[in-house]
Amino acid sequence: MIIVMNENATVAQLGQVIKVLEERGLNPRPNHGSARTVIGIMKASDADLSGVAELPGVDEIAPLNSSFKMVSKDFRSEPTVINVGGAEVGGREFVVMAGPCGVESTEQLMSTARQVKASGGRVLRGGAYKPRTSPYSFQGMREEGLKILAQARAETGLPIVTEIISPELVPLVARYADIMQIGARNMQNYALLEAVGRERKPVLLKRGLMSTIEEMLLAAEYLMSGGNAQVMLCERGIRTFEKATRNTLDLSAVSVIKQLSHLPVIVDPSHAVGHVAYVADMCRASVAAGADGIIIETHPNPAVALSDGQQSLTFDAFDDLMTSLRPIAQAVGRPMIEPSGES
Ligand code: PEP
Ligand code: MN
Repeated sequence: MIIVMNENATVAQLGQVIKVLEERGLNPRPNHGSARTVIGIMKASDADLSGVAELPGVDEIAPLNSSFKMVSKDFRSEPTVINVGGAEVGGREFVVMAGPCGVESTEQLMSTARQVKASGGRVLRGGAYKPRTSPYSFQGMREEGLKILAQARAETGLPIVTEIISPELVPLVARYADIMQIGARNMQNYALLEAVGRERKPVLLKRGLMSTIEEMLLAAEYLMSGGNAQVMLCERGIRTFEKATRNTLDLSAVSVIKQLSHLPVIVDPSHAVGHVAYVADMCRASVAAGADGIIIETHPNPAVALSDGQQSLTFDAFDDLMTSLRPIAQAVGRPMIEPSGES
């Protein structure tokens, strides 16, 4: 079981609850998030906990029937809806996040931002810090890239999602980002999860290349138990024996996560399939599978992109994709905003 304290529970109230639990031999294990404390109890009957829900400062008592707690539907039965610059991720709308893999120049990002907006995208993506497999590959424009992202937001009004690759960078990147992205390679970087968990900003947590759904939910648990409730989970493909695609898109993860958790699920078909030929089909499949949104790569000239050009859609292909997504989203009761058409 877990005993969830109110956000404004006092230290004295918490102490009183722990004292009562200890007196009943229940070995309480408090977990102090910055927003609230959750007390775990490994074994307890209803009789053991009688009266505890009524103690001052207690919000609720929830069953603990899985290894994760706060991300679980047992903890919160309503879907979590995260407001990002007016878009409600996890609400009715199907939200499209798009942009280049990496910020490469002002011109490249501004033209992409205008296109994303014109086609009905809701969030602009762009990495300023790039975790690359090879140390000789483009590592990102770093702080200069963050400034360009801020400029694109100022011009288009699109909120930005950008990756944080290390705990030391959290204060800097969090100042610019509307959504802090934790990349696949960092899903189990616990120091980073703890640092991002202390922030009060939405997070996009990507599934590790070789991580199970449960491991992703436990990584999200780090963020939530640290006090950051605004977590979106991202299925971005996992490594399998199949070589025809960069990774294997595990679309069933969308359904599984929806059964287990209240958190919104975003699919990243670009990194999953790794080739433009398959991206659009998997975007359409993601809508039908019940995802809350997608994050995709688009570039003004994919042939010269400094990273992930092979999986980046041209602007025309992106616009066509958006047109094809709208009726599917409508059919599954997840409308998208109309494109502004101004680029
Ligand atoms: C990215 O989104 O550019 C990225 C590096 O993705 P992932 O962490 O899923 O590989
Ligand atoms: Mn990329």
